[in-house]
Amino acid sequence: MALKLVEEQAPAGYERLVYIEDEEAGLRAFVCVHSTVLGPAVGGCRMWNYATLDEARTDVLRLAAGMTNKNAMAGLGLGGGKSVIIGDPRSDKTEALFRAFGRAIESFGGSYYTAEDVGISPEDMANVAKETAYAVGLDHGAHASGDPSPFTAEGVFQCLKVGAKAVFGTDDLAGRRVLVQGLGHVGWSLAEKLHAAGAELVVSDVNAEAVEKARASLGAEVCPPGEIFAQQMDVFAPCALGGILTHETVAQLTARLVCGAANNQLLEPSVAEDLLARDCLYLPDYVVNAGGIISVAGEVHHAGPEYRADRLVQIAGRVAQIVETSRKERKTTIQVADDIVADILAKAAKVEALAV
Ligand code: NAD
Repeated sequence: MALKLVEEQAPAGYERLVYIEDEEAGLRAFVCVHSTVLGPAVGGCRMWNYATLDEARTDVLRLAAGMTNKNAMAGLGLGGGKSVIIGDPRSDKTEALFRAFGRAIESFGGSYYTAEDVGISPEDMANVAKETAYAVGLDHGAHASGDPSPFTAEGVFQCLKVGAKAVFGTDDLAGRRVLVQGLGHVGWSLAEKLHAAGAELVVSDVNAEAVEKARASLGAEVCPPGEIFAQQMDVFAPCALGGILTHETVAQLTARLVCGAANNQLLEPSVAEDLLARDCLYLPDYVVNAGGIISVAGEVHHAGPEYRADRLVQIAGRVAQIVETSRKERKTTIQVADDIVADILAKAAKVEALAV
């Protein structure tokens, strides 16, 4: 069998990091299990044209840790993990590649479940699922939950309204100038909701077709990808890739509120201090973008539609509480969120230790 799994030394605080290769199938990937303290690790698979193995490894480590936070905060009884496939999603996808990836996921024996992330569609996941029981976010099957993106977009939209109320005194988005970066699965759906709510939309994407569609059908203003931070805006909604908020970009940011779907928006934790100093309310990404994983968790737990609906509505309330605590305790919102997660994990670890 051509499939090769290489166990790598996982950094402190991580449970497993595995490099996967199947030369025949053209597969090179990493799977990272960050934590199974709260349950099996669940987190999507990203396909991206990483320039080096190191770049892919760094990404999977960051994303996997983020999933532990997201799943703990959303109360899903799941741990955190992630996978990345190295390749161009526009040209390198084959059934053989996804089936080889599926065999690798099966070998984790249920300690890690995969699903869609950037570059991966439900059709790709269906190919993964031909080889493993641990692929979710499927379109077909007894507990299939389909594309998680609409759930993610709805959660982000509800949180954006909570943030608007906190910053502008009203959650009415009519006339509010919102820049959506990334018009993919989540960003497009969010842009539609903002348009319906009467927001003044500005959009930015490297995909010219997507921005043209937004201009034509949503009356959006178009901003070239390199000029986002030169724009006047009330709200910034990052829905492309992570690391967009840096000390340099935040120094130029005109928005008073940041709320978007992208994972790991802060390049480094200290950027949150800059946002606070500029009186810009940052709603922690892993709290606001939990709608998708809630949808996927319903599939993992074989739960009915009410499981998703109940948990989706709780996201906005959780964000409102985090904003309130951050103001009261003069801490950044991400610090408040991280403290809540640390508490949840510490309590679970204590229970586990007592059970042994
Ligand atoms: P997607 O691949 O469908 O969309 C990403 C979009 O961003 C694409 O249109 C792409 O062209 C655009 N983009 C890439 N680089 C850009 C740049 N420099 N400037 C402007 N646009 C750029 O992905 P998605 O599923 O919509 O996810 C978007 C983000 O939300 C990702 O960070 C993802 O990890 C995160 N997220 C997604 C979900 C979900 O349910 N899909 C859930 C949680 C978090």
